[in-house]
Amino acid sequence: MGLNDSAEHTYIECDCDHAEHILRFTRYSGLDELDKMLTVDVYLSNYMSLPQRIWYGIKYIFGFKSGYGAFDCVLLNKKNVKRLRDLCNMHLEALDAEEGNNGSV
Ligand SMILES: [Zn+2]
Repeated sequence: MGLNDSAEHTYIECDCDHAEHILRFTRYSGLDELDKMLTVDVYLSNYMSLPQRIWYGIKYIFGFKSGYGAFDCVLLNKKNVKRLRDLCNMHLEALDAEEGNNGSV
């Protein structure tokens, strides 16, 4: 069984509808180490042209830090917050069932 055979993905899109602002949550089953993890994949911006990458590298070498940092955000509307809540609840219930307790952490 490959890693992808045991993966269940849930995609949550940002409210701004930008294609780079998609969160991919993955639950695994059937694997010893990963099946208790809920992973989150986020898109990391990259600089497509060589001059942009060189300029960014030079700034990095000399310790330049943007006032905004290297962050971006994903806006979750109420519907997606509920989806995230449901996903987390489902994952926690699966973990609790596996551990044999009733939700006490
Ligand atoms: Zn967005």
